[in-house]
Amino acid sequence: MAKRVFSGFRPTGKQHIGNYLGAVRNWVSLQDEYDCVYCVVDIHALTTLESTEMLREDIYEMVLDWLAAGIDPQKSIVFAQSHVPQVMELHTLFSMVTPLSWLLRVPTFKEKVKMQPHNVNYGLVGYPVLMTADIALYKGEVVPVGEDQLPHLELAREIVRRFNSLYGFVFPEPQAKLTSFPLVLGLDGVQKMSKSYNNHIEIAAPPQEILERVMTAVTDPARRYRSDPGHPEVCNIFRLHKFFTPERVDGIASECRRAGIGCVDCKKILAQSIGSTLEPFREKRAAMAAKPNYVDEVLAEGANRAEAIARETIEEVKEKMKLLQRAKLATQ
Ligand code: SF4
Repeated sequence: MAKRVFSGFRPTGKQHIGNYLGAVRNWVSLQDEYDCVYCVVDIHALTTLESTEMLREDIYEMVLDWLAAGIDPQKSIVFAQSHVPQVMELHTLFSMVTPLSWLLRVPTFKEKVKMQPHNVNYGLVGYPVLMTADIALYKGEVVPVGEDQLPHLELAREIVRRFNSLYGFVFPEPQAKLTSFPLVLGLDGVQKMSKSYNNHIEIAAPPQEILERVMTAVTDPARRYRSDPGHPEVCNIFRLHKFFTPERVDGIASECRRAGIGCVDCKKILAQSIGSTLEPFREKRAAMAAKPNYVDEVLAEGANRAEAIARETIEEVKEKMKLLQRAKLATQ
């Protein structure tokens, strides 16, 4: 049997090429080798959201992007975290075996306290417990992570290890599948690509929008005039060419170095490459978006499949913990 992969993503709305190159593309390829469970972690989002006004729309848009990018709901379970309430149950049960000191030392908790001192809610400190419940509820064995997320996964492993040692084996310890997520810088060439920095290109963007956004990108700061030789190794447009125009990168690098190509033309080539690479994606997305209720149906089907696993796990957990079974009353 294929091992089970679990991965969750906060609902961030339309995905950008940084999301695609850094995560979604990898999820698509994992489907051939693993039994994949992909979850929109909408409850996690509540720990930091100031308003839930856009939450539903963000979920729809993100799931449409996943599906258009190649996440196949026939192969993988695709669902929303809040649709499977057993995760809240397991979160509560795990919270009884997790020492508070483990949670208070988590670096991201300390960062969040600094970032939102007006909203240090319980969910922030319990975040790793809920994350562990997400993975363990489906007996996830493999979790694709970047190196920066390894400490979180180690904490999840400690929690399930502690549960298993206190009550008996239920959960496999999830293993990291280290993925070399390429760091995709935004159009400012400085920060990671992110909607919050407005330095992104949406994967569903039409060609004209791609061109307009690429034209705003920062290039080699030392190349002030068209006649100045460029340094492609420090230029973010060049990095993006490596993903989207791989067959021409050598030529672009040498032309840039001898000032044979200007940045405007170089950007036009990149915009064209991004636009044509993502054209099949845009078409597929538009076709899916035109089907009424398509995303709802995918998520409902995913939740049914996820809940069937979740119910079994919770039964097993309660049995191990010696919680009292609810008596079945005879029907009249
Ligand atoms: S020509 Fe291209 S690679 Fe060279 S600095 Fe300009 S945008 Fe960057």
